[in-house]
Amino acid sequence: MSAQIPVPQVGFPKIYQVIRNNLCAACGGCEAICPMQAATVQLYDEANYDKFTPTVAEPSVVKLFSEISREDNYCAHRDCYIDCDACVVCSNCLACQRICPVLDGFPGDDEFDNIIEQKVGKSSLHGQDGAAVTGILKSLFEKGEIDAALSITRNADWETEVVILTNADEVSSVGGTKYTYDPVISKLREALEKYEKIAVVGTPCQAHAASLLRENLTDKIKLVIGLICMESFTYDDMGGNIIPSILGLNIKEVHKLDFAKGKFVALTETSDEPTTVPIKEIAPLARKPCHHCLDYTSYYADISVGSVGSPDGWSTIFVRSQTGKEYLDKVEGMEYHEKPIFMDIVVKLAAQKHKNNAWDFRKFKEDVWAGKEWIPEEHST
Ligand SMILES: Cc1cc2nc3c(=O)[nH]c(=O)nc-3n(C[C@H](O)[C@H](O)[C@H](O)COP(=O)(O)OP(=O)(O)OC[C@H]3O[C@@H](n4cnc5c(N)ncnc54)[C@H](O)[C@@H]3O)c2cc1C
Ligand code: SF4
Ligand code: SF4
Ligand code: SF4
Repeated sequence: MSAQIPVPQVGFPKIYQVIRNNLCAACGGCEAICPMQAATVQLYDEANYDKFTPTVAEPSVVKLFSEISREDNYCAHRDCYIDCDACVVCSNCLACQRICPVLDGFPGDDEFDNIIEQKVGKSSLHGQDGAAVTGILKSLFEKGEIDAALSITRNADWETEVVILTNADEVSSVGGTKYTYDPVISKLREALEKYEKIAVVGTPCQAHAASLLRENLTDKIKLVIGLICMESFTYDDMGGNIIPSILGLNIKEVHKLDFAKGKFVALTETSDEPTTVPIKEIAPLARKPCHHCLDYTSYYADISVGSVGSPDGWSTIFVRSQTGKEYLDKVEGMEYHEKPIFMDIVVKLAAQKHKNNAWDFRKFKEDVWAGKEWIPEEHST
C-alpha cells in the first residue's frame, strides 16, 4: 500500500483571482519567489487541466498547485503516478501575492510623474532602435557593475528563450525586439542562486514584478530596465498566424519585426521592401492580459527604453529612479541627441492604451484584498 502524503489544508493565495480572471501577465514573479515551487508558468495544456489547477485558456499561464489530487494515485502536481515525498504544494505563505504586478495595480493616468530625466540616445552597437539597452548592459558588464542580466534570445524560427547573460560579449547576441512573450522573471529564481548584481530587462509587467521582488525579497536586483510596450503576442499567434498567414511570409526569412507609424512591419532577407499590416488588424490578437494592461512606459522600472518619440535609429530613454540615474551616469559609449523626446506622441499613445484597456483595477484590488470574490465587469476589448 502506498504511503500517504499529508495534504496541507490551505486556501488559495490572492494570485488565484488574477489567474482565474485572465489578468495574469505570466511575468513569472510568483514562480521566482514561491518557496514550494507550487506556482509555475507553463504552456497551457488542456490534457493536464484539472479542478485543482486554476488556469486560463492561453499559452503561458500560471498553474497553481494547491492540493494534491489522489484519485487513482494520480498526482496532478508532477503529472505522475508514483508516490514520493518530494511532491509539494502551496503552503499559503502568501509571498506571491506581495510581488504580483496585477495585484499591486497600475500607474494612474499620468504615467510620466516619476521621470527624473529624459533623453534620446543610442550606442554604436546593433539593436532594435538605438541599441540603448544593449549599450547600457555592455558597459555595466565591462565596469563590473553587474554580473548577470536577464534577457531574451531567439532562433531562426523566432522561438524565444529567456537567458542569463554573464558578460559583455554575450550582450550583443540578444539585441532586437521579440514581440512574443516569455516569463522572464521566472528565470530570476536561478539568477538569484548564482549571481549578486543582477540587471533585469523586460516589458512593463516584468519590470513591475522585478521591482516588487527587489522591494520584498532581495537586494541582488541592481537595475530594472523596462521596455515601452503596447502589447505582446503568443508564439502560436505570431509564428502560426500573423507572420505566415496575415503577412504571408516564411518566418525563417524575417530578420526584424517592428511597430512603426501605425503599422506592424517585417523586414526580410529576400526583399528590400518591408511587408506591413495596419496595427489595428493584429492588435486584437494580443495576449489576453495585454487587453487589461495600463502601463505603457514601464512606470516601475529604473530606466525605461522605447522607440516612440525618437528619430529612427535612436532610443527614447526615461530615467525614473535615483538608482537608474546612478547606473546610467556610469555607462560609457552612449551618444545623446541634441533634440528632446517628442513627448506629444508618447503621451498620446499612453492615453490610447489607457482608454482601450480601461477597467476598474482599483475596485479589483479593493475586492481581492478585502477577501471578496471579484465579479468582472463588461470590458471594452
Ligand atoms: C513586446 C514588446 C512591445 C513593444 N512595444 C513598444 C511600443 O509600443 N513602443 C515603443 O516605443 N517601444 C516598444 N517596445 C520596445 C522596443 O521595441 C525596443 O525594445 C526598445 O526601444 C529598446 O530598443 P534598443 O534598440 O535600445 O534595444 P536593444 O539594444 O535591441 O535590446 C533589446 C533588449 O530587449 C530584450 N527583449 C527583446 N524582446 C523582449 C521581450 N519580448 N521580452 C523581454 N525582453 C525582450 C532583449 O533581450 C534585449 O536585452 C516593445 C518591446 C517589446 C518586447
Ligand atoms: S502562497 Fe506561497 S507557497 Fe503558495 S503559491 Fe504563493 S508563494 Fe507559493
Ligand atoms: S506574479 Fe506574474 S505570473 Fe504570477 S500571477 Fe501575478 S502576473 Fe501572473
Ligand atoms: S501589454 Fe506589455 S506590459 Fe502589459 S501585460 Fe502585455 S506584455 Fe506585459
